[in-house]
Amino acid sequence: MQPHWPLLFLLTVVNLTPCALAESATDDGSVPVIDARTVFQGAMVNQMAFLAEQDEALSVGAVQSLIRRNPAVLTYPESSVLTRGINSGAIWLVANVLNPTDDPILRRVSVRTGWLEQVDFFFIAEGQLPQRFIGGDRIPLNQRSFAKRIPSADYPFPPGETRLLLRIETADPMVVPLYFSSVAASHRREQSETAFYSFIYGVMFALLACSLMLFAGLRQRRYLFYSLYTGSFVAMTASYNGIGMALLWPEAVGWQQWAPPLLMLCFASSGLAFATNFLSTKRRQPRLHKTFQTIGVAYFALFVVFFALGEQGLALRLAFLVAPLFSVLMLYMSVSSWVAGNQFARYFMLGTLASVVGASITASTVTGMIPYTQLGYYAVDIGMVVDAILLMLALADLVRKNEEARTAAEQNAQTDLLTGLSNRRGFLPVAESLWSLVTRKNRNVCVAMIDIDRFKSINDQYGHAVGDKVLKVIADELYRSRRRGDLLARWGGEEFTLLLPETSEAEALKVAERFRHNVEQLVTNDRGKVIQCTISIGVASRHSEHVTLDQAIAKADEELYRAKLQGRNQVSFSRMSGKSVENPLPAD
Ligand code: GH3
Ligand code: MG
Ligand code: MG
Repeated sequence: MQPHWPLLFLLTVVNLTPCALAESATDDGSVPVIDARTVFQGAMVNQMAFLAEQDEALSVGAVQSLIRRNPAVLTYPESSVLTRGINSGAIWLVANVLNPTDDPILRRVSVRTGWLEQVDFFFIAEGQLPQRFIGGDRIPLNQRSFAKRIPSADYPFPPGETRLLLRIETADPMVVPLYFSSVAASHRREQSETAFYSFIYGVMFALLACSLMLFAGLRQRRYLFYSLYTGSFVAMTASYNGIGMALLWPEAVGWQQWAPPLLMLCFASSGLAFATNFLSTKRRQPRLHKTFQTIGVAYFALFVVFFALGEQGLALRLAFLVAPLFSVLMLYMSVSSWVAGNQFARYFMLGTLASVVGASITASTVTGMIPYTQLGYYAVDIGMVVDAILLMLALADLVRKNEEARTAAEQNAQTDLLTGLSNRRGFLPVAESLWSLVTRKNRNVCVAMIDIDRFKSINDQYGHAVGDKVLKVIADELYRSRRRGDLLARWGGEEFTLLLPETSEAEALKVAERFRHNVEQLVTNDRGKVIQCTISIGVASRHSEHVTLDQAIAKADEELYRAKLQGRNQVSFSRMSGKSVENPLPAD
């Protein structure tokens, strides 16, 4: 018992004594009997009789005499979990608990729903003081009979018959999975629940922290929306499963009544905001995007109106309408986006599917449509964790795709599209660093400039497309003829450049001559016509330490011009400051 127990005890005695005395010892058989020795493994509301309050609140005495006068007021739930929908009014559950032994039997009675507003347990045994226990999220934690997240009562049933009555009142969905078990069995259930929620919240907090850090670092709004989505899921579930009150806001009963519908709306809208941002709905489906915005604004406006009117039931109805609508919209968006060719949408499809399936299984479990299993009860949380993980994968995938696209763009900027060789932008930085390396080590290095002879006439004669083809064929041939480690690039137009590190003049001339010879032999076919070309090459070597790459290239260009002047299809060579040598090697 909690610190307020003496007060509660007094109240209970004052409240219950007259009705207990008024109660007749005989029972006409309309009230079901539960054997106190039984330990029910699952929910067991179908072992009790049920009575709905009509217009005004009933006292224990009123309920007792109502049953006595007219047993037909009782109905008998068929499924193990009682469900009555949202804002359905208060209900009473009643049973006689029979202890056929000579000793008291301690049992824990609990309603394992964290969101019920007020649950009163009454135990009335002949010759005993009646006892009342109170729980529910309208009661501050330290004023409940048990400071637990779910309403519970421990009672040592004395030998003979004890009448057990429960009054449950809530504006939230009336879902009553009533348990009647030993304290040890209840402990085990609580432990497994604690382990499970620790796991779920651990994963969710890790994802939340990760996305918040990404948002702090990258300033992209999608990470903020993802954080809000996972954060509002955690807050929303904590508000309805009772963990919020048990750990975070034990006294804030006012907030607790409005938190579930408000957080459900936040969860749905942050999910939609994330999805629309991620799937670029604004750009791809502007009308759909506008619709979402309108729906979002409309339901927040409605929530404010309901809050101002104090209509908690209506706010809950709104939230429960929005939750499935949100799933349908998410599914619709992801499918249509996927059909439109957005491959990231498949993560949303799978994620939304996982959370919808999870929510449906839990809903079917707590409403008794499928047999109760622990896994079934937790399916909604598991589905949501799967959803959150898939969405984090989608974010990671997007980052990877963006990175790939950036690298490809960078590479494209350094590569010539027609020939596939480096362009001037790709060539120069590498050539510069190679140049300074060999200069520092005082090693040989040569540069060659290569130009196709009379290429203009190829274009004129065969057309520009054929010219392109020839250009490509020659580029390929140059690429094949180069030595490994030599740097070949398209300098521009029909001109190429070659850097030959660690190469003496004689070796450079050999390479240049091989180029010239190979291209001369090359034949391009165009619809039966044979096209042949030649090239001229100017070569320059680094003659002194002070020669820069630019100067060497300029010199090679001068030599190329000389080769052209002297009749083309030849190699011209010069030491940087020495005399030029024309065709020093005989063609082979
Ligand atoms: P020279 O022997 O003096 O080098 O004569 P040339 O006709 O090769 O020289 P010029 O510089 O007068 O002409 C180069 C021609 O190369 C002109 C231009 O249209 C052509 N050309 C440059 N780039 C390309 C290209 O990418 N594709 C095609 N098809 N032609 C190109
Ligand atoms: Mg030319
Ligand atoms: Mg040219």
